Amino acid sequence: MEEQLRKSDTLNVIGELAAGIAHEIRNPMTALKGFIQLLEDSIEEDHSMYFNVITTELSRIDSIINEFLILAKPQAVKFVQKDIAQIMKETVELLSAQAVLHNVQFRIYYEKELPLVFCEPNQMKKVFINIIKNAIEVMPKGGYITVSLQACGDNKVKVSIRDEGSGIPGHKIKKLGEPFYTTKERGTGLGLMVTYKIIEEHKGTIEVESKLGKGTVFHIYLPYIKKAGEQ
Ligand code: ADP
Ligand code: MG
Repeated sequence: MEEQLRKSDTLNVIGELAAGIAHEIRNPMTALKGFIQLLEDSIEEDHSMYFNVITTELSRIDSIINEFLILAKPQAVKFVQKDIAQIMKETVELLSAQAVLHNVQFRIYYEKELPLVFCEPNQMKKVFINIIKNAIEVMPKGGYITVSLQACGDNKVKVSIRDEGSGIPGHKIKKLGEPFYTTKERGTGLGLMVTYKIIEEHKGTIEVESKLGKGTVFHIYLPYIKKAGEQ
C-alpha cells in the first residue's frame, strides 16, 4: 500500500513538470533535426557515421519527450464506453510488422460479449502498445505473445499479455513502472511508468507474474459498470 502511494506521488509530480518541459524542448529539437539534415547534405566528406549517431540520439530524445508528453495533464482526453477487445485488435494490427520482423506471432483469445469498459481508447491503446512492445523486445529469437481478454469476478475485465521471453527476477518486479528503470541499452524506462499511470487513472490494477527463462505475464484488471438489471 505504501509502495503504491509513493509511486503515485512521484508520478503526479513528474507528470506536472513533464508537460511544460517536453513542450519547450520540442521546438528546438525540430530545428536541430532540420539543420543537421541540411548540414549532412551540404558537407562533401563522408561523415555518415557521426550523422547516424546524431540522428539516433535525437530520436532517442524524441521518444523520451513523447513518453513524457503522455504524462501531461489530459489534453482532450475523452472517456467512452468501449469494447477493449476492439482496441486490442487494432493494437496488434499496428504492431504486426514489428512482430513479423522479430519472428513473433500473436494468439488472441477473447469473450464474445465482453463488457464495455469506460476508458480513454487512445490511452488504453498506448498501454497495450507499451506492454506488447516490451514482449516483442524480450524475445529476440521470436515466439508467441498470447493475449486474452475476459470478464472476471468483481465487475472487472482482465487483460493478460504473456510472452516467452527471459522473464524478470522476482526482486526486480517492484521496480517496474519506476521512472527510468530500464535494462536495455537503448531503453527509456518510461513505457511502463506511463502504462501504470494510465491504468491508475482508469481505476485499474496491474499484476506481473514472471518465471526466469520462461516468460512474463502482465495482467491488467479494469473495472466496468454493470448495466441495470445485470446480476
Ligand atoms: P524500456 O522498454 O524503455 O526499457 P519500460 O518501462 O517499457 O522501459 O520497461 C522497463 C524495464 O522492465 C525493461 O527495461 C525490462 O527490464 C523490464 N521489462 C518490461 N517488460 C518486460 C517483459 N515482458 N519481460 C522482461 N522484462 C520486461
Ligand atoms: Mg518499453
